[in-house]
Amino acid sequence: YEAGKVPERILSYESSMLNARTKRVELENDLYKALEEDQLFLQYQPQLNIQTGEINSMEALVRWNHPIKGWISPADFIPIAEESGLIIPFGRYVLETACKQTVELQKVINKPIKVAVNLSVGQLFQENFIDIIKEVIQETKIPPHQLELEITESMTMNTNYITPILKGLKEIGLTVAIDDFGTGYSSLSYLKDLPIDCLKIDRSFVQKISNKDDQEPLVDMIISMAQHLKLDVVAEGIETIEQLHYLNEKKCDFIQGYYISKPINIEDLSERFNEIEQFALETIQGMKMT
Ligand code: C2E
Ligand code: MG
Ligand code: MG
Ligand code: MG
Repeated sequence: YEAGKVPERILSYESSMLNARTKRVELENDLYKALEEDQLFLQYQPQLNIQTGEINSMEALVRWNHPIKGWISPADFIPIAEESGLIIPFGRYVLETACKQTVELQKVINKPIKVAVNLSVGQLFQENFIDIIKEVIQETKIPPHQLELEITESMTMNTNYITPILKGLKEIGLTVAIDDFGTGYSSLSYLKDLPIDCLKIDRSFVQKISNKDDQEPLVDMIISMAQHLKLDVVAEGIETIEQLHYLNEKKCDFIQGYYISKPINIEDLSERFNEIEQFALETIQGMKMT
């Protein structure tokens, strides 16, 4: 092209890169403010025990209501928190809030309930992570066996590194689940030596089940693998009764999804817990009769 003249295509590419970069820095600043100004909060999604029809656990999911941009998905802002280092104070906020609210909730519903909290890489691999967990437990007085931590397959890849951390967590008495299981590239052989308690089948596999006579080999495989390794198995993203039927037949332990309840605020969960559990119980009883 002509000397001294940058083609349009390259110019617009550069300016869009610059734009993306500015937006990211902006969002990073906003996220910093969000922590200071209490714009973050948690919602909870009940997990149903398919065998008993009871709700004994729930997953905590973070929410951000941005003052100008409105709702921003955690899938979008967690990577920014990761890159900026904000994930450390941010992760602590989520852990503390989840434990505190769970302790409060169980006073209202009058039975113990377990909470699962998602962790991100930077959080799990911070130097004093085990100490932070101990502090949060002490501060909030949550019984350790009522706290589950969700990690992803990719975080377990370096087994030499992760195994002592997981053992430390186990000593404290909490449990660990592998989230979005089946989407990573983990080999099966490492799994049997990892001190974990639960596999969560990724929503993308569950959502392929469209009727109960369908076959969804990946779902079947993960369930039977969990059974062999004596791990609990949770299926996430259940939206239809057919998916529930299928998972019941395959002897999945727990399910989580819009069919039972969307993630909701703690106030709503306190108020509606009995109603949601009643609906779940009736669904399970109805299903077992057919
Ligand atoms: P995840 O941990 O796999 O959480 C499940 C996601 O599936 C949640 O999305 C939940 O709202 C959604 N979901 C549950 N049931 C259904 C269903 O029946 N249908 C559909 N279509 N979706 C369903 P959400 O809340 O947008 O979170 C997205 C991801 O962001 C989470 O995936 C998790 O990886 C991450 N995340 C959320 N909260 C936190 C957090 O506090 N800390 C960290 N590190 N990550 C978080
Ligand atoms: Mg999760
Ligand atoms: Mg998941
Ligand atoms: Mg996830």
